[in-house]
Amino acid sequence: MTLVDSTVQVGSTARPKRLTVLGSTGSIGRSTLDLVGRNRDRFELVALVGHSNVDLLAEQARLFKPEVVVTADPDRYDALRESLSGLPCEVAAGREAVIEAASRPADQVMAAIVGAAGLEPTLAAVRSGTPVALANKECLVCAGGLFTREVERSGSTLLPVDSEHSAVFQVLNPDHAEQIDRIILTASGGPFRTWTAEQIAAATPARALMHPNWSMGPKITIDSATMMNKGLELIEAFHLFPVSADQLTVLVHPQSIIHSMVEYCDGSVLAQLGAPDMRTPIAYALAWPERMPGPAARLRLEELAQLTFEPVDEARFPAVTLCRDALATAGAAPTVLNAANEVAVHGFLNGQLGFTDIVRVVAQTLERAAGESMTAEPADLDEVLAADRYGRRVAAEIAAITIP
Ligand code: NAD
Ligand code: MG
Repeated sequence: MTLVDSTVQVGSTARPKRLTVLGSTGSIGRSTLDLVGRNRDRFELVALVGHSNVDLLAEQARLFKPEVVVTADPDRYDALRESLSGLPCEVAAGREAVIEAASRPADQVMAAIVGAAGLEPTLAAVRSGTPVALANKECLVCAGGLFTREVERSGSTLLPVDSEHSAVFQVLNPDHAEQIDRIILTASGGPFRTWTAEQIAAATPARALMHPNWSMGPKITIDSATMMNKGLELIEAFHLFPVSADQLTVLVHPQSIIHSMVEYCDGSVLAQLGAPDMRTPIAYALAWPERMPGPAARLRLEELAQLTFEPVDEARFPAVTLCRDALATAGAAPTVLNAANEVAVHGFLNGQLGFTDIVRVVAQTLERAAGESMTAEPADLDEVLAADRYGRRVAAEIAAITIP
């Protein structure tokens, strides 16, 4: 089932597109506003939503003059209000305010809050029928069934922002699903691609945060190092595109030039290429079904020495198989997996867990969930959030750390 309806036109150039950015102070949020800044006549800002970095949030608000600026953290309300005094925009704080901002009439919402915290606001945007540029991958991982149903019911559209899914979206013809043999998601392999198992076991947060190709937020950078990111993307792709789980393949491609591929029944493979710069897939989602100018470096294929490919080494990077298994179990298994991973990544970044403990904690949490029959399909958002809380609690117990 594809969530992308190619008949919905969100790329009108007749008037500026009214855009809300959830997670505007993060890596994707800043890249989004960089593109908006370069294409000022194409966009008007409805809402900017951030969390703790209210200085940057205020700076963005002064520059882009949205109708409303929201910090998710109520304790930062006064600081934000003070920085924006004299500016003709509403200022709000807290979870309800984030959801209200996400629900405001807009032509498009960029969903770029990190983690399961992005679920409710993104769902609120979908329920309002607003087309959503979806960067937050946890939405489809945790609540793929729920999002699928709500997109269909509300007439919203999901435009993938993750570079792999954007690549597939650009080369996949959803009207001829039966002609697709497989989707090949490419992976950089992360900073530890060539490391031995012993070296990986001793990896520090500082080293794991040094991604060879992409500049991203800390959570996804650690997920890239464990390759959990590719597993989450596999689950995301399953919900976005009309293929079965066994039609999804992962291939390590260390140069990150081919962002993913679709292989058709006649043997043709269509790929999307570009420099590893998130502003390209973001620009595609913002301008779709048209295109708009983007600042990413242009590919000089003649200067690239080579493009190489290798299979995932499942012994050193077991996270992809773990995600595949959770997808096969279905129900709440991916929700529990994601929650456990968020806790474990947090523990690793805080120095409470070793690098290989991340995947161990996630695997043990999933085993416990299966043993305690906690993997039934969540019927609604409350059940998704309950499975998320369960995964966090059990992972924290197994890891002997406090829940973030
Ligand atoms: P980031 O950590 O750089 O930014 C996260 C944003 O979310 C910040 O604006 C932060 O203020 C906000 N936020 C955090 N907690 C919040 C809360 N409780 N309520 C409201 N806002 C909150 O993360 P990022 O790298 O920009 O990633 C954002 C999402 O996009 C993630 O789901 C990630 O997996 C996905 N993604 C990112 C990239 C990338 O290149 N960075 C690529 C593909 C997908
Ligand atoms: Mg990606």
